[in-house]
Amino acid sequence: MLSVTDAKIKIIEELKIVEYETISLDDALGRVLAKPLKASVDSPSFSNSSMDGFAVISANLSGASKEFPIELEIIGVVPAGAKPDQKISFGQTMKIMTGAMIPDGADSVIPVENSNLNFHESNTEEEKSVEIYKDNLPGDYIRLKGEDFKNGKVLLNSQTILRPQDLSIFAMMGINLVEVFSRVKIGIFSTGDELLAIEQQLEDGKIRETNSYSLKSQIFNSGAEVVDFGIVEDNETEIRSLMDQAINYGVNMIVSSAGVSAGEFDYVRKVVEENGELSFWKVNMRPGKPLAFGSYKGIPFFGLPGNPVSAFVGYEVFISHAIDFMGGKNINSGKRRKVALSEDVHSDGRESYLRAFIDFNSDNLKANLVEHQGSGNIFSLVKANSLIIIPAGIKHLEKGELVEYLEI
Ligand code: AMP
Ligand code: MG
Repeated sequence: MLSVTDAKIKIIEELKIVEYETISLDDALGRVLAKPLKASVDSPSFSNSSMDGFAVISANLSGASKEFPIELEIIGVVPAGAKPDQKISFGQTMKIMTGAMIPDGADSVIPVENSNLNFHESNTEEEKSVEIYKDNLPGDYIRLKGEDFKNGKVLLNSQTILRPQDLSIFAMMGINLVEVFSRVKIGIFSTGDELLAIEQQLEDGKIRETNSYSLKSQIFNSGAEVVDFGIVEDNETEIRSLMDQAINYGVNMIVSSAGVSAGEFDYVRKVVEENGELSFWKVNMRPGKPLAFGSYKGIPFFGLPGNPVSAFVGYEVFISHAIDFMGGKNINSGKRRKVALSEDVHSDGRESYLRAFIDFNSDNLKANLVEHQGSGNIFSLVKANSLIIIPAGIKHLEKGELVEYLEI
């Protein structure tokens, strides 16, 4: 049977990355950058003061101290946003505000705290001179042109998932339209004669359809768009018609839940095989062994198992990976973190994803398995906040051993 690793490789081989689109910078948080961002200016673009104070020539101030202050003539003020209109000569200074351009002649700034003046930002202040209490070095309190980065520098690589600080740097470059990978569009549906919609009364033998609610949210968390085509009975014609609706809608992927195991009423597999290709329909894992992947009329198709836990895990392990790839994300970045087991763990040798709770507030992370690991027990997922991974071929791990985990 196919291993999880091989299944993931097979999936990626079959997928295509979606197209680009141009969006407003205001909408770009969390989107995946399609092209690198290069600096078109130096930053800062002009040398400026990092303090409110006085623009000075440092050689002017040698030996200045509280006992022996040096007096300088104030020839003007440079507020932030202004271009200095005078040059500083020996014996002179200009008041300067944080972020204001350094006037010609000055090589440094003295913070206002090292002078006898209180600071007023106004130009009209009638102060003719200032006593400076401290000497300094050329460059002091100056943010030099280009010290942050130079014109031409690659600021963001393509495939970056845009964070708040990344948006600021676009703004700095004067760019308010950003090229990102389009959101992957996923059509989903649930199959099963036993399934009732959320608003329907429960009847004997029937259950409420629940998988679509976690699935839609998982897709949302992956940054993809979802179109829910609802519940369909175990009926070949209906399943085919729903798959065609999804195709006509223009989805990039179809995901169904249930109807892929070897059960008598499992038609999804048949429909896919008749109108496309099934790459595999079993993976050597637990939970979630019956998991189908293929294509329907050229569009990638995933058939998740019906059991709620299996469906959930199938998404986390395979579909999230597939969507990341299709959506332009770098799937090779990021290493899985590890956590210590709080008890001995047994497995049947299949790659296992066990529900666990990790107290992330603790300094000493430990994975505690939650009760009732059966793949139909949805409450076990509610109690868990992670899936710990027992690798294939391992049947026993001892308390304290480290295992990889996925946060859920
Ligand atoms: P199946 O994959 O069709 O054999 O279904 C396996 C189990 O999952 C059965 O107990 C189904 O009733 C249940 N199941 C299937 N689909 C859903 C769904 N959408 N929501 C909740 N449970 C489901
Ligand atoms: Mg079924």
